[in-house]
Amino acid sequence: MKIQFLGTAAAEGFPGSFCNCKYCENVRNLGEKFYRTRSQAIIDGKLLIDMPADTYYHFLKNNIRGDMIESVIFTHTHGDHFYYKELEMRGAGFGKNMAVEKLNVLIPANAVSKIEKLGDHTKDIMNVVIAELYKTVKFGDYEITPLKAKHGYGAIDAHIYLIKKGDKTFLYGHDTGYFFDEVFDYLKSNKVYLNGLTLDCCYASLPISDNGAHMGYPNVERVLKRLEENGNIDKNTKKVINHFSHNVNPLQNVLEEESKHLDCIVSYDGMILEI
Ligand SMILES: [Zn+2]
Ligand SMILES: [Zn+2]
Ligand SMILES: [Zn+2]
Repeated sequence: MKIQFLGTAAAEGFPGSFCNCKYCENVRNLGEKFYRTRSQAIIDGKLLIDMPADTYYHFLKNNIRGDMIESVIFTHTHGDHFYYKELEMRGAGFGKNMAVEKLNVLIPANAVSKIEKLGDHTKDIMNVVIAELYKTVKFGDYEITPLKAKHGYGAIDAHIYLIKKGDKTFLYGHDTGYFFDEVFDYLKSNKVYLNGLTLDCCYASLPISDNGAHMGYPNVERVLKRLEENGNIDKNTKKVINHFSHNVNPLQNVLEEESKHLDCIVSYDGMILEI
């Protein structure tokens, strides 16, 4: 599996759209190489994870052929993950001669009403499936299992996703706080071995409790420790931290220095991870 991290910031981006804090001001001066756009990833050029407003820019910047994308999975309906209106650009008159005729879409239940408001010409070329916790869906070569994210569940149906292709399994862990016990239990009882995973590290060095909706270094460390104890990861697992807020000054060198003890790869826009 080839996982490309197209965007690696939290909702506001880095620099933030409207922010004039010292960190955002500094990164504006440093230039585009240091920017982080809103979180999105793509696997093998076929399976897109989330659609922020930056989707169009991500496609251009990374030479992504939108017409070849087979499936889109949405983690939750926060604005930085669910700019679903872009899907209309696949519709009649907007997208022509597409390599993939019908797009698989996996969405949380609370997103269905929004998708249904898209025009018929868009809906007719989508295969929409509602994500149900722990129920595996097969889209092409990929088996995708929604796990419960600690990210306002109840108010919104937020998921993290287990993605399996052949003998390789990857966990996409955005957005979420410290994992629910039922998620650890599911991974343990199903003896899931993760070849790779990416974890929410929005707060980096800023404190956040295990009941919060995102994580920082100490929470990530505890998740990794428990996954290791449960046999889900080992020294060969490729571990990534991602989805950084401007509040933590997410310059690459700052994050790498601060997070050395985690033995994780610090994501950046455009980064490719092979597992
Ligand atoms: Zn987010
Ligand atoms: Zn800022
Ligand atoms: Zn969110």
